[in-house]
Amino acid sequence: MGLLKDIKNLLIGMKITGKHLGRHAITIQYPEEKWTMPERSRGIVVLLSDKETGELNCTACMLCMKACPTGAIRIDAPRDEVTKKRTLKGFVVDNGLCCFCGLCEEACNFCAIKMTPKYEFSTIHKEELVWDMKRLQEVGRDVDYVDTRKKKVAPAAKPAVAVTPAPAPVTDPPAPAPAANPGEEKKEG
Ligand code: SF4
Ligand code: SF4
Repeated sequence: MGLLKDIKNLLIGMKITGKHLGRHAITIQYPEEKWTMPERSRGIVVLLSDKETGELNCTACMLCMKACPTGAIRIDAPRDEVTKKRTLKGFVVDNGLCCFCGLCEEACNFCAIKMTPKYEFSTIHKEELVWDMKRLQEVGRDVDYVDTRKKKVAPAAKPAVAVTPAPAPVTDPPAPAPAANPGEEKKEG
């Protein structure tokens, strides 16, 4: 009984092997050959910069740090006592803690953080998985994205309106001088 079962399993295995014999290989010779990753695949997290100014889009609102379930994001952005605005001084992502969930990108309203299809960042040194703001920006520079931020645009100047001079008021023609009274002329003379 046991022998028959073994032969049956062997034949099932050979059948599967036979089905793939005529097909081309689906493996690739990595790292010489690489897959083109889908546009929305979740690889490393990067910081995005403004396409015109090159400045980071991040406003230091801290939403991504609060949304991160693993505590992989650390932001250093002290608040100004007078203006109450935050100044971005440091932004760190620990790729060793990141679980590639994408919640940071979803939380950001400023097109400032994005998951990219890039995936090659393995290292034997754990501390090298911690990327600072400079590195996050550099890796994100060649990442294309649709800028959905609503930029403040100066109101367009109103088009010049041609001023038509108002028509001159219609005035009555001067009244004719009253005819001289011949009797009065005689008196004066
Ligand atoms: S992808 Fe997820 S785990 Fe990684 S930094 Fe963003 S929120 Fe955190
Ligand atoms: S990356 Fe986005 S969500 Fe995170 S602090 Fe900057 S602006 Fe806020």
